Amino acid sequence: MLPGEQSLPETIVSPDGHVVNNLFLYRCEQSDQALARQVNEDFMSLQVLWFTNHRQQIVCPRCASFNLIRKGWRNRVLMSSRGRLRMKVLQSRCKVCGRTFRPFNEWAGIPSSRRFLEELVEKAVILGAWFSFSRSANTLKLLTGGAISPEGIRRKIADEAKRINLPSPEAAETVLVDATKVKAGRKQRGEPVYLAITAKRGPKKYGRPTCIKSLVHLHVGDVAPVKERLQAIRPDYLVHDGGENLADCAKNVQRCRWHVTHQLKHYLWQDHVPYEFRPAFQEGIRSILVDREKGPSRYKRFADNLMNLGLKKTATHLYGASDEAFTYIKEQGFAYIDTSPLEREMRELNRRADIGARWSPKGLENVLKVLFHKRLNNNLKGQT
Ligand SMILES: [Zn+2]
Repeated sequence: MLPGEQSLPETIVSPDGHVVNNLFLYRCEQSDQALARQVNEDFMSLQVLWFTNHRQQIVCPRCASFNLIRKGWRNRVLMSSRGRLRMKVLQSRCKVCGRTFRPFNEWAGIPSSRRFLEELVEKAVILGAWFSFSRSANTLKLLTGGAISPEGIRRKIADEAKRINLPSPEAAETVLVDATKVKAGRKQRGEPVYLAITAKRGPKKYGRPTCIKSLVHLHVGDVAPVKERLQAIRPDYLVHDGGENLADCAKNVQRCRWHVTHQLKHYLWQDHVPYEFRPAFQEGIRSILVDREKGPSRYKRFADNLMNLGLKKTATHLYGASDEAFTYIKEQGFAYIDTSPLEREMRELNRRADIGARWSPKGLENVLKVLFHKRLNNNLKGQT
């Protein structure tokens, strides 16, 4: 050992088979401390340099005088994912009115309200979009050197949601709309969440087709906002589940084929068709909906037959969807003719929304907006 060299703590070389791991953890701690020191030193040099080069531009916030001197440093603590950073922030004093202030807070991105480094907040927001706030707070603490409370994470997500500007798609893209009920608000049955995405086919990956999606609208509440948004975008191609009348929201509207078939089951039940006979009807309509040649005429005959059989509710359902069931034959530009790319997102939505408690509509909307904006618009796909 060289003179002055520090010996390793004894716990590291204890004969329990964890030497390498203990050594690693010890060095992590050391380097985090060194990192915090280095960041502070760099930041101090930067501030001195900035003060020297820009002092003519610094103005007293109280009396607007340029007659300023440096006035020592003020301590700030910022929480990062590598532990607490003790920072020194340069102070300045006005020689005219005596006001002391920190001219670089804004420039440096550390307004007095900031307690966490942005990189830690980003990690917290991603966790909070995926999991409950308390689980996110625990995970953050477990896996990083920083910590933000569950309530803090909720607020950071609300801030983030406010900043999100959803992209407006090109008119030629296919927009898919669907809704699902979530446990939010005061109504017993909850509130609907409306989700609109664009979807187009991507390159094949491992021999399987991929789908490129982006989020264009999400809100919790009644249907009006999604209609407004769609009318503003006015897409050429819109596919929806038929839950709402969206005929005036796009140039060409296609009823989701999967939903038409799926919903049939419910109406057959209402028409008292025994359980074992329902799949045959569904299979019939499924094959008609993909028939580009005779589909429309077969569809009408099928519905008429149901009516003649006295299956009024089922026939009415088909009549109601008939205007939008075969739009894809006349208009070739649909990237999808069912909402299946959206169903995958709906499963994710339900997973996050189902917390065994009731959400506030706005609180849930914030979380879902951040979640799907990150999933679909921020290229975080590999991580979600
Ligand atoms: Zn002043």
